[in-house]
Amino acid sequence: MTKKLLFAFLFATRVTRLVAWINRKKVTILCYHSVTKQAGPIPNDIHKLHLGVDSFRDQIDYLQANYQIISLSQFIDARRANLKLPANAAILTFDDGVRNFLTVVAPLLSERKIPATSFIVTGENYTRDNSAANGIWDPEDDENHLTWTDVRHLAELGLEFGSHTCSHLSLPDIPAAEIRNELEGSLNALKSNLDRNSFPLCYPHGRTTESISRLSQEIGYSCGLTSLLGQNDVDADMFALRRTVIASDDDLPTFAARVSGFTRWCNRLTELIVNRVSAEHKTSAVSYEPLLPDKCAPNKTF
Ligand SMILES: [Zn+2]
Repeated sequence: MTKKLLFAFLFATRVTRLVAWINRKKVTILCYHSVTKQAGPIPNDIHKLHLGVDSFRDQIDYLQANYQIISLSQFIDARRANLKLPANAAILTFDDGVRNFLTVVAPLLSERKIPATSFIVTGENYTRDNSAANGIWDPEDDENHLTWTDVRHLAELGLEFGSHTCSHLSLPDIPAAEIRNELEGSLNALKSNLDRNSFPLCYPHGRTTESISRLSQEIGYSCGLTSLLGQNDVDADMFALRRTVIASDDDLPTFAARVSGFTRWCNRLTELIVNRVSAEHKTSAVSYEPLLPDKCAPNKTF
């Protein structure tokens, strides 16, 4: 609650806007999971992944008023061609291929011509075609996954797709051969279902290592997204991109503080203090970089 009061104060006094202006040359990649039409909190949503549609609409209104929403492919193309991106560029991404991307998110974004990328788990258990793409929202869409029929339909509307691997296993925790299978299998599935050759990758649970990032590049992905908190500088490693994870209970001032980069500053400060204390007590040093989060969940430290 104290944090929310602080964010409300920063929002009312336009300090959040000032922070966003200072960070205007960085690219913010937002990470969502599920946008639901259900009223009130979803039971057992311990990771705060199911955001209400009214809050989502308010967030999109705020982004449209204060940021330039670009597509992930626009960002990748600009980096490849060394082109300048607009100030305050923001990218929308959705992890896990939750089916309400079709029935809740897509209608709202398509109406406003806003680009977004959905990262789907391509294994058969996740994408089996067991329902028609009728586009009528059902509460089960908060738990079900997009089918290939849904994905092809949404791609025709201009929405983008990427890989969240075949099985959503934490890549650093499985054998090398299995990592390669997860990455290659998923890329091949996307290529055979969608009329594109290049696809981005989002590491399951946001977790990667230097060797996994390089393997992803070698296999042919266009970039790799983590759940490391933060924005991306012009020289950010395209296979270790940072994101801003949005929690389902974020009010608008909290959302604005996250997107501006303010919460990342707070985390950096906390890390510096922890490191200083560790050094003074001659304990092992703590990395300035946050540890890779264990879940596809909002960073709980701020
Ligand atoms: Zn995930």
